[in-house]
Amino acid sequence: MTDFFPAGRVLPHPVFHWHIVVSQGEILCVGGRPLLNELPVSLVEAVDTQSVSHYLGEWRGQACGVHYLSSQVDLPGFEWRGLRSLLGVVDEPVFFLAGRAMQVVDWDLDHQFCGRCGLKTELHLQDRARVCSQCHLAVYPRISPCVIMLLTRGDECLLARHSHHRHSLYTALAGFIEPGENAEQAVAREAYEEVGLKIGSTRYLGTQSWPFPGQLMIGYLAEVCGGTLTPDQDEIMEARWFHRNRVPDIIPPAETLSGQLIRTFIGMG
Ligand SMILES: [Zn+2]
Repeated sequence: MTDFFPAGRVLPHPVFHWHIVVSQGEILCVGGRPLLNELPVSLVEAVDTQSVSHYLGEWRGQACGVHYLSSQVDLPGFEWRGLRSLLGVVDEPVFFLAGRAMQVVDWDLDHQFCGRCGLKTELHLQDRARVCSQCHLAVYPRISPCVIMLLTRGDECLLARHSHHRHSLYTALAGFIEPGENAEQAVAREAYEEVGLKIGSTRYLGTQSWPFPGQLMIGYLAEVCGGTLTPDQDEIMEARWFHRNRVPDIIPPAETLSGQLIRTFIGMG
């Protein structure tokens, strides 16, 4: 992802060359693209007077920022789109940049008041943080680490359908890492809780930012060494073993870590 260099510090806050405009959980797009190389003229005043802007980093060597508008403006030729609708539609670096923009805006909106003492927070001058003026609690954008694992048994892999998605695809298992746990322990715990299986060896595949709403996915292939397949029926509606040459026709797209885990496993045959 060399197109984009994220900025950890908010200063210096340069003039933006690239713009992303967010409002009410959606992104302003033109021709399906969320990254604008200039603001629409009719939006300049609204951005100057009503928006909160955040520096995101450099896109192809030029400063890029996000503007948050409290209400959406209808502009001819533009449309407001949800982030999920851009997955697999725009180039991957653009998608993750748009995801970063959404997460920074959500963090800013969600931490206007201190969670400890309830008073108003203010933006830190240098760091990407909101700080309470009373008790000095600092809140940075929060990322939740999650494991995503494809359980394997020789030439077979376990694919599951999740209860909370209607028309859900067969996909890998996943879960949040609990406080005090490392990633491999989370793989073992989630596999046991969700489908009753015990994990022997694991193989780390890679990580991926997942901006729905703010996870870091950590991907593993995990070989099963025991237990009895028992989907928990709460999160997992159904789980089945598939030979690597006979996985379902529709699996998660290659842009997702679950899709990459499944394709990697198929390719190991
Ligand atoms: Zn406070």
